[in-house]
Amino acid sequence: MVERQLRNRGIQDPLVLEAMLAVPRHLFVAEALQNRAYGDCPLPIGERQTISQPYMVGYMTEALSLRGGEKVLEVGTGSGYQAAVLGRIAGKVYSVERIPELARQARRVLDRLGTTNINVKVTDGTFGWEEQAPFDGIMVTAGAPHIPEQLKQQLAPGGRLVVPVGDRLEQKVMRIVRRGVNEFSEEILLGCRFVPLIGQNGWKD
Ligand code: SAH
Repeated sequence: MVERQLRNRGIQDPLVLEAMLAVPRHLFVAEALQNRAYGDCPLPIGERQTISQPYMVGYMTEALSLRGGEKVLEVGTGSGYQAAVLGRIAGKVYSVERIPELARQARRVLDRLGTTNINVKVTDGTFGWEEQAPFDGIMVTAGAPHIPEQLKQQLAPGGRLVVPVGDRLEQKVMRIVRRGVNEFSEEILLGCRFVPLIGQNGWKD
């Protein structure tokens, strides 16, 4: 998976490649799907949600430009796989999920792997995690109708926000960098298809 789907397609950051070599992706899907866990596609994780394609996980993680030790927020815990990858690189990961059963299952797997630097909370992540802000990196793993303003405001100076933005079916991965108190740069990186970000500042259920 790492050779063919990541390195061969241009993912270069050694921290990202090492993290994705280390995290056992099959543990984050149901037993019946484990033989497909390292395939080149997203997979269902229940509750009509999906674990992202490995390439998308690698691409978005690389886009956060982590060097190690950072404080990171993930919106959309889902299976917990992306959180585990972030946890291999960052110092602390705060991950929020709106569906309690998914958060519980993710917590079980993360505990089983012995991770100690990942916090999971059930909440509407379109508000971010105010008490823990600011973050050096924020990754949204669901498709947003627009760049969530609350998340921008929870970025540390120089912090990066990586978020799919578009309509309910298709989005573009965007990277927003906080350049100053009220100064942000925006880049469009890559087309993608995520499940919708549902919440107060996202799509309606
Ligand atoms: N990062 C996940 C993939 C998640 S799929 C993984 O590695 O498996 C997107 C997830 O975002 C779903 O679990 C969905 O329930 C969740 N989600 C959607 N809207 C949300 C919101 N407003 N706050 C928190 N989680 C949300």
